[in-house]
Amino acid sequence: MIICHDCDLLQTKPDLQHQGKALCHRCGAVLFRSVPDSAQRVVALSLAGLILFAVANIYPFLAFDVGSQSTQTTLFTGVRELYAQGLWALAGLVFFTCIAAPLIQLVLMMHIFLPVMLGRTSYAVKPAFRLLLQLREWNMIEVFMIGILVALVKLTKMAIIIPGVAMWSFMALIFILTGAMTSIDGRIVWDRVDSEK
Ligand SMILES: [Zn+2]
Repeated sequence: MIICHDCDLLQTKPDLQHQGKALCHRCGAVLFRSVPDSAQRVVALSLAGLILFAVANIYPFLAFDVGSQSTQTTLFTGVRELYAQGLWALAGLVFFTCIAAPLIQLVLMMHIFLPVMLGRTSYAVKPAFRLLLQLREWNMIEVFMIGILVALVKLTKMAIIIPGVAMWSFMALIFILTGAMTSIDGRIVWDRVDSEK
């Protein structure tokens, strides 16, 4: 049995063999999605995401003009530079959405889905999965942040985004993250949790 989170109707859990959505009989809300090989997909995409994240943070991302000199910085040192310039709110936003949130998502996905793939249960899987689902609601925020970053660069005339390896890795990371998040089939996690009881 499964309860609809929208209208609380208790109904028999439909058996989905292939990719698709199970809908509530009464209100039509999505009960769950079925994704074939969900764990394998999430793990593969997260691994690719972690590599892209590393590349995006190792190579120079921004170039700042300080006086007559131009210095190239990584995304993280760029954030520190924004902070040093007194733009602390923006620095915080860029740090959270472009660095912390993607990294937390990638680490959580590896932490939850690698053990599921291997038929094991990871530590604190319930709170970890709830946090991941919450972050999923924000999953396009990186795109907005790139927009804000570009606007900032244009407005302050202080920095430019270097169209190099780091920027392309970051763009690819956004697609990989979105792909990984949509590959999540929640049932395989909850089934794993239930089987441990
Ligand atoms: Zn319903």
